[in-house]
Amino acid sequence: MRLQSYPKIWNISIILEKNLNLNKAIIHFDLDAFFVSCERRLDSSLNNKPVIVGGTGNRGVVTAASYEARKFGVHSAMNMKTARQLCPHAVYIRGNGSTYAKMSQEVTEILMETLPIVEKASVDEFYADLTGMDKFFGCYKFSTELRAKIIRETGLPISFGLSANKTVSKVATGEAKPNNQMNVANGLEKVFLAPLSIKKIPMVGDKTFKTFSLLGIRNVGLVQQMPVERMISVFGKNGRTIWERCCGIDDSPIKPFHERKSISSERTYGKDTFDQVVISTTITAMAENLAYQLRRGNKLTSVITVKVRYSDFQTYSKQLKIPHTAADHILIPTVLDLFNKLYDRRVLIRLVGVRFAGLAEGNYQIDMFENTNKTVNLYNAMDELRKRFGDSVVRRAATMGEGSRTIGGQGNPFDGKPPILLAHRHR
Ligand SMILES: [Mg+2]
Repeated sequence: MRLQSYPKIWNISIILEKNLNLNKAIIHFDLDAFFVSCERRLDSSLNNKPVIVGGTGNRGVVTAASYEARKFGVHSAMNMKTARQLCPHAVYIRGNGSTYAKMSQEVTEILMETLPIVEKASVDEFYADLTGMDKFFGCYKFSTELRAKIIRETGLPISFGLSANKTVSKVATGEAKPNNQMNVANGLEKVFLAPLSIKKIPMVGDKTFKTFSLLGIRNVGLVQQMPVERMISVFGKNGRTIWERCCGIDDSPIKPFHERKSISSERTYGKDTFDQVVISTTITAMAENLAYQLRRGNKLTSVITVKVRYSDFQTYSKQLKIPHTAADHILIPTVLDLFNKLYDRRVLIRLVGVRFAGLAEGNYQIDMFENTNKTVNLYNAMDELRKRFGDSVVRRAATMGEGSRTIGGQGNPFDGKPPILLAHRHR
C-alpha cells in the first residue's frame, strides 16, 4: 500500500522542479557612470555638469564620462585628446582607484547581506539569483526596494534589469539606463530583444558585428529567424551560442563572489642563510610575482607584511599600511624596506614570507595616473607577455636567478579558486 504512493510523490517533485526553472529570476545591477558618480558624491558641484574621468594628459584615455558628456560623443576608452576636442568645457578629473574600490565595496556589502548568491562581474556590475523569492515578496518589488536602498545608503545611482537569465537582464539594464529599472516578464524575452541592435547582445563584439553587417543583419529579430545551422556555418561553434542569446536563451549560472582577504608567498631555504643578496632576490621575486597576481585579478593591496623565521624558529613580522596599489615600483621597495627594518638579529634565516592584504577591487592603470604613460605601457607589455607565455617569462634583472613560484599561471586568481602558490618550496 505504502509503496504505491511513491510514484506520485516522485511526479510531483518533477513538476515542482520544472516550475522553479520556469520562474527563474536573475537580476543584473550596473552602477551608472560609476567613477563620475563617485566623484560627484565627493563634490556635489559636479552634479549636472559634463564630467570626464581619466588620464588627464593628452595620451591618457577616458575611463568614465557623465551622461552630459556622452551627449557630445565622449565615451570610455576614447583618447583624451579627442574627448577634449569634443567636449572642451567638461570638468576633467584624474581617477582615484582606491576611492572607487571603497565605494564599490559599499554596494557589494549591501547586496551580499541581502542576497544569498551574488556575482561581482566587475567593479560596478553584479548578478544575483532571486529565484524562489517571488513566493514571499514578488521579485520585481523586492528588486525595486533593494535598488532604492542602495541609492539611499550609498548615494550612487544604479540601474537594474530583471528577467529569467543573465543575458536578457544585462540587456534590460542597458535599456533602462540611466538610473532606472526594467523587468522582462517570463516568456517575453524574444519579443523584448527583437527590435534591438545586434550590438546590444553581450557576446557580440566588433568583429561579430562586422560579420553580421556584411550579411545585412542589424537587429536581433533577424537573427532569431535564422536557422541555427546557418549561424554555425558563419560563426563556427560560437554560432549556436550567439543564436541562443539572441533568442533570449541563456542558462549560464551565477558565479558566487568570494572576497579574497590576502595573497601571500613563502620560501624556506634548503640551507639557512644570511646572504643579503640571496634574501633580497627572493623577496623581490615574491613581491613581483604577487603584484602581478594582483594586477591579473584587478586588485590593489594596502597592507604589506614581511615575515622572517630564523634558524632557531623564532618568527617575526613587520607590517605597513600604504595607499592602495598594485605597482611593482611601489611594492618592491616597500617590501625590501620592511625586511631591512625587520632583520636586525644577524642570525641565520630559515624562511622569508611576503603577504599583501587589505585587498580592494581596482585597476592599476587608474592607480598609476600619477605615473607616466611609459610606466603604464611597460607594465602592460610585461603582463601581456606573462599572460601569453607564463609567469616566469619576464622578470626584473634582480630576480633572474629565481624560479617561478606559481603553477597553472593563466587566468584570474580572484574569481574562484585561490592562485596556487608553492609555499615552503625548498631550493
Ligand atoms: Mg556601469
